[in-house]
Amino acid sequence: DRRPAANSIIRPDFKFEDMGIGGLDAEFSTIFRRAFASRIFPPGLINKLGIQHVKGILLYGVPGTGKTLIARQIGKMLNAREPKIINGPEVLNKYVGQSEENIRKMFADAEKEYKEKGDESALHIIIFDELDAVCKQRGSGAGGGTGVGDSVVNQLLSKLDGVDQLNNILLIGMTNRKDMIDDALLRPGRLEVHMEIGLPDEKGRAQILKIHTQKMRDNNVMEPDVNLVELAQLTKNYSGAEISGLVKAATSFAFNRHVKPDTVAGIKEDVSNLKVRRDDFLNALD
Ligand code: ATP
Repeated sequence: DRRPAANSIIRPDFKFEDMGIGGLDAEFSTIFRRAFASRIFPPGLINKLGIQHVKGILLYGVPGTGKTLIARQIGKMLNAREPKIINGPEVLNKYVGQSEENIRKMFADAEKEYKEKGDESALHIIIFDELDAVCKQRGSGAGGGTGVGDSVVNQLLSKLDGVDQLNNILLIGMTNRKDMIDDALLRPGRLEVHMEIGLPDEKGRAQILKIHTQKMRDNNVMEPDVNLVELAQLTKNYSGAEISGLVKAATSFAFNRHVKPDTVAGIKEDVSNLKVRRDDFLNALD
């Protein structure tokens, strides 16, 4: 029986097949087993084992592969507060002192709730995008020599494994440059589960194509000559973001067939029969 238990931290209405993430089943289940297993067992058992829940996950890898999608889906899957999202470069652009204050505030809510309710309090998820902008190796001068980067790292460290252990915090960090992240942040007790999200293989690309053409197939605006297996073969080394861009570009070729030549926006004919076909995808690939 794969249904989550009634007291589970997984939302009972959450369906894995609705996630809209292609080709990352293995990564997702590994993250789940390594980062959340302790949270689906009763607190009594965790106390007996004398362990702490995982408080931080690092998703890393080349751009456009679904790191943000995964982080958001984790937020939707768990019985948790709406995730708070921080963007590294934005934090640095704020005037000095503001970034530390922003981070302090994010943890303060979780801390307050934890003090009131203990282990019964809801999970607070903080998604930190482009973490490398802020959390470069300390002393590297991140933050334009203002020391902002260093003090933000110190903030995160003290909140993750500070004197008061907060069991209701989960930090999901994301980066294209794992090598740039301060080692101190990657230690056990901090961002301890590391998962590389790489480029999809052929099967994964077919799944991503399926997701991104779902609407047009449901609405019968895609010709049956479009073969997703063939397109998956032709898109070697494409990221999920590039596959989604390909689908969009194919539709623009379909639009163009219906636009009058020599006009900027004149529609040539009735567009109710507009369909995206194989050569639109091939043109888009070109
Ligand atoms: P970056 O490192 O540049 O922030 P990222 O890895 O966080 O990139 P996302 O923002 O998750 O990438 O992906 C961008 C878009 O590409 C998504 O909104 C989605 O439309 C599409 N996409 C990427 N990967 C996948 C995937 N595995 N399945 C379905 N769609 C995907």
